[in-house]
Amino acid sequence: MRGAIGLFSSSMLAINELTYAFQGTAPIFENINLRVAPGEFVSVIGPSGSGKSTLFKLITGLLAPDKGEIGINGEISGERLGKVGYMPQKDLLLPWRTVLDNVMLPLEVEGKKGNLAEIHEWFSRFGLKGYENAFPDELSGGMRQRAAFLRTIMTGKELLLLDEPFGALDAMTKRNMHTWLLGLWEDLQKTVLFITHDLEEAILLSDRIYLLGDAHVREWKVNLPRPRNSDQIYQPEFIELRKELERLIHHEN
Ligand code: ADP
Ligand code: MG
Repeated sequence: MRGAIGLFSSSMLAINELTYAFQGTAPIFENINLRVAPGEFVSVIGPSGSGKSTLFKLITGLLAPDKGEIGINGEISGERLGKVGYMPQKDLLLPWRTVLDNVMLPLEVEGKKGNLAEIHEWFSRFGLKGYENAFPDELSGGMRQRAAFLRTIMTGKELLLLDEPFGALDAMTKRNMHTWLLGLWEDLQKTVLFITHDLEEAILLSDRIYLLGDAHVREWKVNLPRPRNSDQIYQPEFIELRKELERLIHHEN
């Protein structure tokens, strides 16, 4: 037991022996364990329907586990949505609000004003300068994703749960977003749990990768030096890991 308690207290996120099934269906998770250390970048991959988004709903407490425990920052409790910055799979920007009002939403919910000069700096940082008063449908796909992401950052939480944030972007835009995100993550020192179905993205960005499938998880460490850059995708270690994961994902299918 001592070991388990130790792990809880040193982890930003700790999932212990989690089991979950939607009513009347086979379990999505059976006794899975997962850990994220402070400052880590960890990806969750797996075939479509393997339970990636469900995992996030369990972490945030939107769904309750059938069995097992979930701890955030050493604390086990049912109310977790307020402890994480959660970016759901759909960007869910409110179409009737300006980009600025969308981004300010987390502050508004907490009854905070926010420092406007600081917020304008964030807009520059996120490539959204000049679009404060635009509406979401006036933005490109990449900009909408960055706006939704900025809103997630505005929660001020250390642990960010990002569900396929770049899933809908074309390859070029995605590549630019990777470089941008790596820079941001290194600066802000956030802890990130990142869902993607793109293996290249998972390897390039992550310290570790969890593969979901058959109600279980497997874990890989990504042994590539940081700071990362997109040229690393041609390195033998990169290609080897990619092949291995590809083979496993197809096998799980
Ligand atoms: P992923 O994000 O990996 O594509 P999901 O977590 O969305 O997968 O879904 C995992 C499985 O759970 C799928 O088979 C999906 O159909 C099922 N599922 C998701 N939400 C519900 C729900 N509310 N009720 C019943 N089954 C669901
Ligand atoms: Mg999903």
